[in-house]
Amino acid sequence: ASNTNIFKFDKDFGQHILKNPGISDAIVEKAFLKPTDVVLEVGPGTGNITVRALEKAKKVIAVELDPRMGAEVTKRVQGTPLAKKLEVILGDVIKMPELPPCDALISNTPYQISSPLIFKMLAMKNPPRVAVLMFQREFAKRLVAKPGDALYSRLSVNVNFWATCKHIMKVGKQNFKPPPKVESDVVRIEPLVLIGSARPNIAFEEFDGLLRIAFNRKNKTLRASFAPKEILSLCERNYKVYCTLNNIPIDDSLADTLPDDTMDVDDDADQNDDDEDDEDMPEFFKDATDPSAGHDTKTPSRNPKSKVALVVRAKINKVLAETELADKRSRQCDQNDFLRLLLAFHKEGIHFS
Ligand code: SAM
Repeated sequence: ASNTNIFKFDKDFGQHILKNPGISDAIVEKAFLKPTDVVLEVGPGTGNITVRALEKAKKVIAVELDPRMGAEVTKRVQGTPLAKKLEVILGDVIKMPELPPCDALISNTPYQISSPLIFKMLAMKNPPRVAVLMFQREFAKRLVAKPGDALYSRLSVNVNFWATCKHIMKVGKQNFKPPPKVESDVVRIEPLVLIGSARPNIAFEEFDGLLRIAFNRKNKTLRASFAPKEILSLCERNYKVYCTLNNIPIDDSLADTLPDDTMDVDDDADQNDDDEDDEDMPEFFKDATDPSAGHDTKTPSRNPKSKVALVVRAKINKVLAETELADKRSRQCDQNDFLRLLLAFHKEGIHFS
């Protein structure tokens, strides 16, 4: 057994060791491991979950940031038949270029890496069959949040688009040493696989790129989310690359569908996500094809160099109008809305990664 008393636990490493063996058992049980499985454990600590997984699986790859913990988990199985099934990798799992291939991912997740760990798993070409992960309660709630919920976010959409996510159990803070400030939850995530399932054939980076823009201001309309100049520049850059790679000539005439002051977009000094009010939106975005719409008194800045930007702006307006999503706020959009939007952008050659 592990002697956890020898450690001064490092709060910066999110070290809250599970002291209730029932919870370690439940985490491993809920992964329904097969004897042929390779398990990836993030942050084995002193090995409370690790030993149980070793008993069930073919191999456990344990990635641990703290060398003292790495030594402890190694020592714990030394001289037992489990030792040869354990591979400890010392280092920061988030800094690994990719997560090691595995059938199951388990972790009493150090809270600082909750979000990057999930994104890293979802972005895998061959994600694990299942992930059983413990998180702080607030984070777990974000994972299962639905459109309209206060905690609905880019994370919620991604997780539910690329995987299914179920709440498994609540875990009180008294089950840890030292106890964390907040309660925890265990969730079970099953990533959709490419072959033989409904995983959409689009790149993770594309879908996530769109969501980054949409959720930058989730209480704003999508029209407002796409208004800032930096978003236009990003789309313009990507569009140029797309056209070059595919030998597509840029159709300048599209630029003429926009009113003269189109490029004077006020990229909305108010970045406050709680702002419910879109009154400050430039009128011309509401109907880009109507030349009489919303001309204001700002100096026009139509610059011959930015013709491509005008084309891209016209395309953005077209997509938002055709999908009828311009006036919808990201917090109310479901994953099908975002997928529809992404496919419409792709049809126009607009990409996000
Ligand atoms: N699995 C153990 C348990 O449940 O008792 C320990 C869990 S503790 C909440 C988190 C563990 O993750 C610690 O051992 C910590 O050192 C490790 N850790 C923290 N950040 C890490 C990172 N970026 N990469 C790998 N391990 C990390």
